[in-house]
Amino acid sequence: MADQEDGEDESDFFRSFADVPLHPPEKRDMCSRCKRPRAVCLCAHFPTHFLHISTTIHVLQHPREESRLLTTVPLLEACLPPNKIIIRRGRRFHKHDWPDLHEILNKPTTLLLYPGPTAENINTLSDSPLGEKYDIIVLDGTWRQAKDIFHNNPFLCQARQVQLEHNHISEYVIRTQPNSKSLCTVEAIALSLSILEKNEEIAEALIRPLRALCKIQLDHGAVVHFSKENEDEIMLRAKRQERNHKKKMSGLNEEER
Ligand SMILES: [Zn+2]
Repeated sequence: MADQEDGEDESDFFRSFADVPLHPPEKRDMCSRCKRPRAVCLCAHFPTHFLHISTTIHVLQHPREESRLLTTVPLLEACLPPNKIIIRRGRRFHKHDWPDLHEILNKPTTLLLYPGPTAENINTLSDSPLGEKYDIIVLDGTWRQAKDIFHNNPFLCQARQVQLEHNHISEYVIRTQPNSKSLCTVEAIALSLSILEKNEEIAEALIRPLRALCKIQLDHGAVVHFSKENEDEIMLRAKRQERNHKKKMSGLNEEER
């Protein structure tokens, strides 16, 4: 899963925060829990206690994603027990460097959450008679970075590949998504967990801080990003209107003559 579409210009992303004050606040003004300035602290939106889940999430994060201003994974870390969300950073995850990850990949209950023609619908797994605890592997970065991790680590396909088939519209409106079905990492994990744990409240508890984060950024001047699909639709509509307008005008001119 990824937070951003392929072709999006990185500078475009940062431009949307042009109005957000960038001066680092004094240490005493920082929240010790969420590590954010107190004025934009998100703690009130996190659950009081870590959510109880049986699934373990393994995030394979592109190294550049970590340095991004608004990577969404820390929101998950604030909501889930540390032994249930494990983050590994890198581009290539060879067996000699990551033996524990390869061990997990060999388990029959490990799922790779990544869309593709052979990926199964994660909804159909919830009825699996295995009754075992799942491990989900999620790729975190821009869409291009996630794709790179997928292609550079072919052994990831040892895991059962699954995808989300959903009607959720991304609430992560401060970054462009490739299409109206695209979700950011937090949303993809939140919905997957809800399905596997058979508990809809999990999705709500995990998406609530994301919604709050977006609201804060919008209040500070960030702009709403439509999905690429919606943008294309808006452009087409504008062109159609312009064409109709020209046609109408030339019709009028004809009549005048
Ligand atoms: Zn806080």
